[in-house]
Amino acid sequence: MRTMSQRDFKRHTVTAALPYANGPIHIGHLAGVYVPADIYVRYLRSKGEDVAFICASDEHGMAITMRSRKEGTTPQAIVDRYHGMIQDSMDQLGISFDIYSRTSNKTHHDTAQMFFKKLYQEGLFEERVSEQYYDDEAQQFLADRYITGTCPNCGHPSAYGDQCENCGSSLNPTDLINPISTLTGNPPVKKETKHWYLPLQNYEAWLNEWIVEGHKKDWKPNVWGQCKSWIDGGLQPRAMTRDLDWGIKVPVEGADGKVLYVWFDAPIGYVSATREWAEREGKEWEPYWKSDDTKLVHFIGKDNIVFHCIIFPAILKSMGDYVLPDNVPANEFLNLEGDKISTSRNWAVWLHEYLIDLPEKQDVLRYALCSNAPESKDNDFTWKDFQARNNNELVAILGNFVNRALVLTHKYFDGKVPVRGEVFDIDKEVLDQLGKVPNKVGDSIEKYRFREALAEMMELARMGNKYLADTEPWKLIKTDQDRVGTILNIALQLVANLSIVAEPFIPFSADKLRKLLNIERLDWSSAGNDELLAEAATLEKPSLLFEKIEDKTIEAQVQKLEDTKKQNEMENQEISLAPLKEDIVFDDFMKLDLRVGTIIEAKKVEKSNKLLQFLVDTGVDQRTILSGIAKQYDPAEMLGKQVTIIANLAPRKMMGVASQGMILMAEDAEGNLRLIQPNEAVNPGSVIS
Ligand SMILES: [Zn+2]
Repeated sequence: MRTMSQRDFKRHTVTAALPYANGPIHIGHLAGVYVPADIYVRYLRSKGEDVAFICASDEHGMAITMRSRKEGTTPQAIVDRYHGMIQDSMDQLGISFDIYSRTSNKTHHDTAQMFFKKLYQEGLFEERVSEQYYDDEAQQFLADRYITGTCPNCGHPSAYGDQCENCGSSLNPTDLINPISTLTGNPPVKKETKHWYLPLQNYEAWLNEWIVEGHKKDWKPNVWGQCKSWIDGGLQPRAMTRDLDWGIKVPVEGADGKVLYVWFDAPIGYVSATREWAEREGKEWEPYWKSDDTKLVHFIGKDNIVFHCIIFPAILKSMGDYVLPDNVPANEFLNLEGDKISTSRNWAVWLHEYLIDLPEKQDVLRYALCSNAPESKDNDFTWKDFQARNNNELVAILGNFVNRALVLTHKYFDGKVPVRGEVFDIDKEVLDQLGKVPNKVGDSIEKYRFREALAEMMELARMGNKYLADTEPWKLIKTDQDRVGTILNIALQLVANLSIVAEPFIPFSADKLRKLLNIERLDWSSAGNDELLAEAATLEKPSLLFEKIEDKTIEAQVQKLEDTKKQNEMENQEISLAPLKEDIVFDDFMKLDLRVGTIIEAKKVEKSNKLLQFLVDTGVDQRTILSGIAKQYDPAEMLGKQVTIIANLAPRKMMGVASQGMILMAEDAEGNLRLIQPNEAVNPGSVIS
């Protein structure tokens, strides 16, 4: 059990959850993982710590192959597309990874196989043969998501093998009623297959000691509590291999056609990426994973807790010489406008679109997501709140303070830092507060309380505004220029401090601040110092740090979401359409005698509120045909219309009347009927083929 305090660590390995390369990044990912991780790392770097900030695209697993199948392309094409997109957009947001790799790299394949082989050779896996669903025609085992059927709990007709999205219950494929392979539409068969299981139950005692006892105080309650309930509930062996053709080959005999479980290989991606980074930088990678004085921290979302707190540590522990995470500050979920963010429903604010729609506003997003981060409970992102954070906080507090200090200095002192003269209590109070800010911000960051840290940072700007409001230099300038010089000198020192303590949160604005002040990047150790700016140093002409975001910008974003909602509603209708029928041969089709006929008489069928009775001229005869369209069509409006009929349907009696054929109608998902008509008039009896 390690009990080192912060200062005993010599280096930091900070990982951010590997984004899954089957879609772009959205604000939920950012608020949950990447923004807090980046704040943490930027702070550590500012303190001069040795940090490796590691991330990569997770490019294996079932969802990738499913997506490629859906789009009619290869898994490689999918991951290539999204890897590039994710990397670009994160970079543009200033997420400062030391390396952003990908799990399809050879280094990663080698590393993951090395891990598996080592555990295999140590005899740590349990080999088990079990029956799993297999698609005979596609000649492959079916992953849970490739099987649909009726939910045993709610009767939903298209539940997946692992979950019913209608009632939310988690399922096994064998629970489904009338299971169907989505690959071929055939019912799957059961077939034996062998897999390698990690016997997690063997780690229970150790996990209990390490997490439940050892990290009760320093891990977030939501993370610790979830681990405890997993461990208390009893851990089960978990298969670390899959029957799949996309992924990392299982490097042992008798494992043809099998790959490593994506959750076995993905966290090892942190190690692989560290190796790549170290090689690139001419460093040793091992200390970042194997040295006791390395602090390992995993930033993840709450859906990944079990993998990062139970399974991956069990693997690391079994490897023998790896450090364990010192903390796993997982966040809860961010919702969007009151609804769960969903990639499949396109209910998200996508980073790559945000960067185009709201150019040069990276810091506004970083700020809004951090100030509203779902640190201890699920939170909601709304565009109104986003606008308010910008207009009422970044513009009105931070931007306003910086601008006033700079504008007044240019106005009264020609843009040069004025001399600080005698200081009074009101000045001492401000300087005293300033001295405390870096520790307050830093302590909160080190406790993974990023909202609190951000608020402490903003407190400095608030204090600056209050100081100017209380001292009113714009009034004093008429009577006491020296006093005004002192006030502005102090205000400018606060601005210089903001360029340091705001940097982890809003790095683009911190950079602008440094340029306005003509200063170099300063370390965290300089923060709190009230003599960062030398007297008579020249400042640049002030320009606005933040601009107001107008209503129309916000309305456009809200409209975009409204459009998504409409689109989803339409797609849901499509889903409720009848499924395609089985294939028929051409001869079956040729048996149908389809013709155009003209309606020459039309009336209601007595005692029926559904049926209309028509006399139809088929070219060869005039015959009676009944049709169940009385709710949508009046007899009168049908007169003279050309319609499509099946002329050789055996006669059927309905309500005492024999119908000699059938009129064809199109029916949409809501049951609306429309006639099928030739688009120009044709002779009655024309054959349709
Ligand atoms: Zn269900």
